[in-house]
Amino acid sequence: MDRVRLIIFNAALGPLDYRVPPGMAVEPGSVVIAPLGPRQVLGIVWDADRLDGGTEVPASKLRPLLKALPVPPLSTPLRRLIEWTADYYCAPLAAVARMAIGSTAALKGGGTATEYRLTGVEPARLTPQRAAALDALHDEQATIRELAERAGVSEGVLRGMVGAGLLEPVLVDLDRPYPRARIDFAAPDLSPDQQAAADRFSTAVRDGGFQPFLLDGVTGSGKTECYFEAVATAIALGRQVLVLLPEIALTENFLRRFEARFGVPPVLWHSSLKSSERRRAWRAIVSGDAQVIVGARSALFMPYARLGLIVVDEAHEVSFKQDDGVRYNARDVAVVRAKFEGIPVVLASATPALESMQLAEAGVYIKVELAARYGGAELPAIRVVDLRKDQPERQHWIAPPLVRELRDRLDRGEQSLLFLNRRGYAPLTLCRTCGYRFQCPNCTAWLVEHRLSRRLACHHCGHEVPTPEACPECATPDCMVACGPGVERIADEVAERFPSARVAVVTSDTLNSPGKVREFVEAVEGGLVEVIVGTQLVTKGYHFPELTLVGVIDADLGLEGGDLRAGERTYQQIAQVAGRAGRGEKPGEVLIQTRHPEAPVIAALAAGDRDSFYAAEAEARREAGAPPFGRWAAIIVSSEDEAEAREAARAIGGTRPDLPDVLVLGPAPAPMALLRGRYRYRLLLNARRSAEVQRVIRDWLGQLRFPPGVRVAVDIDPYSF
Ligand code: ADP
Ligand code: ZN
Repeated sequence: MDRVRLIIFNAALGPLDYRVPPGMAVEPGSVVIAPLGPRQVLGIVWDADRLDGGTEVPASKLRPLLKALPVPPLSTPLRRLIEWTADYYCAPLAAVARMAIGSTAALKGGGTATEYRLTGVEPARLTPQRAAALDALHDEQATIRELAERAGVSEGVLRGMVGAGLLEPVLVDLDRPYPRARIDFAAPDLSPDQQAAADRFSTAVRDGGFQPFLLDGVTGSGKTECYFEAVATAIALGRQVLVLLPEIALTENFLRRFEARFGVPPVLWHSSLKSSERRRAWRAIVSGDAQVIVGARSALFMPYARLGLIVVDEAHEVSFKQDDGVRYNARDVAVVRAKFEGIPVVLASATPALESMQLAEAGVYIKVELAARYGGAELPAIRVVDLRKDQPERQHWIAPPLVRELRDRLDRGEQSLLFLNRRGYAPLTLCRTCGYRFQCPNCTAWLVEHRLSRRLACHHCGHEVPTPEACPECATPDCMVACGPGVERIADEVAERFPSARVAVVTSDTLNSPGKVREFVEAVEGGLVEVIVGTQLVTKGYHFPELTLVGVIDADLGLEGGDLRAGERTYQQIAQVAGRAGRGEKPGEVLIQTRHPEAPVIAALAAGDRDSFYAAEAEARREAGAPPFGRWAAIIVSSEDEAEAREAARAIGGTRPDLPDVLVLGPAPAPMALLRGRYRYRLLLNARRSAEVQRVIRDWLGQLRFPPGVRVAVDIDPYSF
């Protein structure tokens, strides 16, 4: 090859052609450094015949590549996956390709990295900043930049501390191998059902070839142990396994179980790894040294050397859908990757997405069922509490029947879990004198009061202010009244009713690090917690045998708002949280508080009739032309300038295509009309399944030009608009 076409990581530029200097060996997939104007940029050599763009200029006139990085080229299946993802989600190829090279991991390579840690020297006198750093960096070891970020001080402060002997450098070997998994470390005896499922997965791993499985097993049925057998099979064959989890918060729990089964932890990949971990993991993934990789969405695009199996656990989870940048659904892309790689993929869930159920019914996915809980535990009994009849007292949210059951569990020394999917103390805070409401300056959202941290916070952009002493409008002191409950307020109510109960509040605010998760799990397992009050973070993954009561504080919360998948999500959340009850020897009970006992979702939950829920949901979606029967897509136009956003949205709306199978709605202000300081308008497309929505959108938007401040994002199969 004397010339190549490159994807370079600058979304604004298309592919560019370069000359390959003599002596440099590159092929499609090679990662290279190329000159761009006065800069050097990272790029990937791509199959020239698959990319538009480039130039006719003879090779001798092109600028030469500067360097080929000493990493294996991205494989053909991975390049096809990247192309598919860019095409399907209407995203720039470069933005997708960038996920494959783990930001700077590929560029920086292996060898050693220098990190710093505290020396333990106790200085006699300290500046406040150094004291803060000493306090924050206890067991931390990272680069100066990462430590500075963690401690909230400048890098200069830390460099000063190195000079003063308070911090010392440590050399980290990035090429040291990961410990090998022991496939027989603690292999459990599987139940006959589990064994049957495990055998199917293992056979598929052994045979190779694309096979998509839907592992549909009730909560507590032992799905993890089943797919662990397939993991063991893959390891024995020297193939790599990718396990995708929806949230990093679940990882800690998973790690414990993995280590108990295989004797070593798996390799982690997610966005909050420090750079040395990222570089080490990336190299091990690429070389094949990493046997099992557990990761968040972004692990899906890594250049695995020998991928043999993909598992997507809690596959129904909304958080597999990425909502900015490349807007893709990791659950769906996982199946596509397995197809390109020619390997099996297992989607595991107790409450699969309707889309997955339909594909299984259509015979596209192979359905493998676990109908009973492992070890003979019964599914919990479910009772509906009608809040119109059984009303809580004023400014209280736990109705009398749930209070009675809570008392009963406390008397018996068993554990309870109260679920409310709202962080903070109250969703709305206002001044009792003038009615002033605290609103986020960057978003269409109220600020939420967090009493534990004494702050008002926006849950969309992270804006925070200390809770004020007086109303900013009328200056009345101590005027704030809370409207409605969040988990902190429910915890207060439990404390008020049962002063001696030990209560734990569990949200992303309190469980924000692996250490905190471990502490929480140990506290519950050790019986130090009697009542857990939590958001969706506690609805899945945890296995607490002494937990026998689950109370859903407000089952109607998720049904408000008219979101496309509101019914499905409510069903999944409540079924999942209900699944935490009675997993050990003692039977579990679930109380669902609602004002709409007759709503199909609630009725199906109460009757334990999952099939009727899926049938009703399918019917409703069929009528609405919603997925999986029709397609939705959204075009979101945003700008910091409201008029500019509106104009651009109008321009798009004004050139809408007139097609029989694609209906265009809008433009209208998006439900979050202001988000992170950007004004947003959206258009919704509702199309027949057969319509080529992506091509329609590309042709339509491709002919329009927008001012530089305007961003136009396309969301295929959106979850929320
Ligand atoms: P699910 O993910 O389906 O909700 P889990 O995989 O969490 O279920 O299993 C529930 C509990 O049963 C876990 O504590 C798990 O360790 C245990 N378990 C499942 N299968 C077995 C088995 N074959 N032998 C021993 N314990 C098992
Ligand atoms: Zn905000």
